[in-house]
Amino acid sequence: MTTPHARAVIDLGALASNVDFINQQTGDAAVLAVVKADAYGHGLIPSAKAAVAGGASWLGTALFQEALTLRAAGIETRILTWLGTVDDQFAECIAADIDLGVSHREALLAIVQEARRLGKRARVHLKIDTGLSRNGVTLDDLDQLVAIANSESDAVNVVGAMSHFAYADEPKHPTIAAQIDVFNQALALIEAAGIDLEVKHLANSAATLTLPEVHFNLVRPGIAIYGITPGLALGTAAELGLKPVMSLHASVALTKTVPAGSGISYGHTYHTKSQANLALIPAGYSDGVPRSASNKGPVLLGGKTYQIAGRVCMDQFVLDVGDAEVRIGDNAVLFGDPQRGEPSVEDWAIAADTIGYEIVTRIGPRVDRHYINIPS
Ligand SMILES: *Cc1c(COP(=O)(O)O)cnc(C)c1O
Repeated sequence: MTTPHARAVIDLGALASNVDFINQQTGDAAVLAVVKADAYGHGLIPSAKAAVAGGASWLGTALFQEALTLRAAGIETRILTWLGTVDDQFAECIAADIDLGVSHREALLAIVQEARRLGKRARVHLKIDTGLSRNGVTLDDLDQLVAIANSESDAVNVVGAMSHFAYADEPKHPTIAAQIDVFNQALALIEAAGIDLEVKHLANSAATLTLPEVHFNLVRPGIAIYGITPGLALGTAAELGLKPVMSLHASVALTKTVPAGSGISYGHTYHTKSQANLALIPAGYSDGVPRSASNKGPVLLGGKTYQIAGRVCMDQFVLDVGDAEVRIGDNAVLFGDPQRGEPSVEDWAIAADTIGYEIVTRIGPRVDRHYINIPS
């Protein structure tokens, strides 16, 4: 690899194998691979194709545009998208055979209208708010949605019901049982209205890995397919049997020796303790290296892991490698596979006081994505 700046190496074989591993654990339930947010920063199209190669029979996106981009790339897998806005691309999605999650009456009416105009029957999944209080229709308002779906059944086909957990990363949390109960009430209400649901789905990654009783016949893992734990309380990625997919690299841009007591980077929040060799790494917060990981983020260089010295800047940060010999062009690994001795995404999440999700989804557009082990 010759790219001088930060680059993300994406192991699509690992992604496919994570999907396959999950598929094997979920028995008869099919896998919907969540590829929203540019496949959690891994690249939408290549990641989606690898997920399908690994056995995902559905793909899921938050934004309609992400779903349309998948179709435009020739991906024929069943696709569900669920975060529409009032004037969103309902018609385009219906025309492209994309399933739509519906959380409120206005969206359902817009779908009915566009489906009629296109002379197509739209496939929809009723998204139930079972206690997250985010997207989704409450049990109280579900009646009305079901009534509309039934009276307009020439234009809409309710094929699914879905919901999302607030606390799946804490498997014993009491809200889990409460949400399952509300979901079951919603299913009963929908089915009592004569609607025959093709798929029922509630499980994100954490629930997919730890709550088999909520697999129903479709699970919706996101973070786990990228080889990142949904929560350290559930175990590390390795303990969960997941393989890291992304590793983040940058080549040393400059080295120099400075005296003891040198203040490093903006604000001099770090001073060298003795004469020290410095390595300048050309990756900064615009590339997704969190500024909040200043003086904390771990970086593997020349077989040793150092913490960032001083503040992370927009395009770069500095390592104090002591008396180690480091050369321009040497490869620094910010995160990758701990089994290769590299820091993990989780290490960075701890350093930046966030979650692994945010570390990978914020990797900036300027970082090259380099794909390896592409499944055939
Ligand atoms: C993001 C998302 C998922 C995937 O969540 P993970 O925790 O990444 O597995 C599943 N379902 C919905 C509705 C989501 O928004």
